[in-house]
Amino acid sequence: MAYLTTVSGRLLPVDPAYTTLAAQDPTQAETMCPVCGGRFPFRIRRWTLERMIRGWHFDKIRDTGFHFCETPICPIVYFHNGEGLYFALEDLQVPVGIKRLEAPIPVCYCKGVDEQTILYEIVVKRCCDSIKDIQA
Ligand SMILES: [Zn+2]
Repeated sequence: MAYLTTVSGRLLPVDPAYTTLAAQDPTQAETMCPVCGGRFPFRIRRWTLERMIRGWHFDKIRDTGFHFCETPICPIVYFHNGEGLYFALEDLQVPVGIKRLEAPIPVCYCKGVDEQTILYEIVVKRCCDSIKDIQA
């Protein structure tokens, strides 16, 4: 079993599907999370990384090449296979909504809104009946 090391030094097992693809076609493997094997072509901007990553890891942020792993139970959040840079949950300064399985599950970082607040507004206060109401 192969392992990768996150920016904090945590060892995580590498999915064999990633090892195989990286050997056959490294360009295709750039969008695959090496831990869960999920494919995530959407690229993450430096701006986003600078707001999510803990300050002492800023030297590992790059302008391009980072992808976001959307698998809820996977500990990897951002990965850059080309440079072997892996940010896990503990390397971020804020919780990641899709990776949290219990409250508070963040929905909007700018306004500080979490899932429970939205559900409270809908179910208890009966304030919202459309996506526009919820956004407001
Ligand atoms: Zn993953």
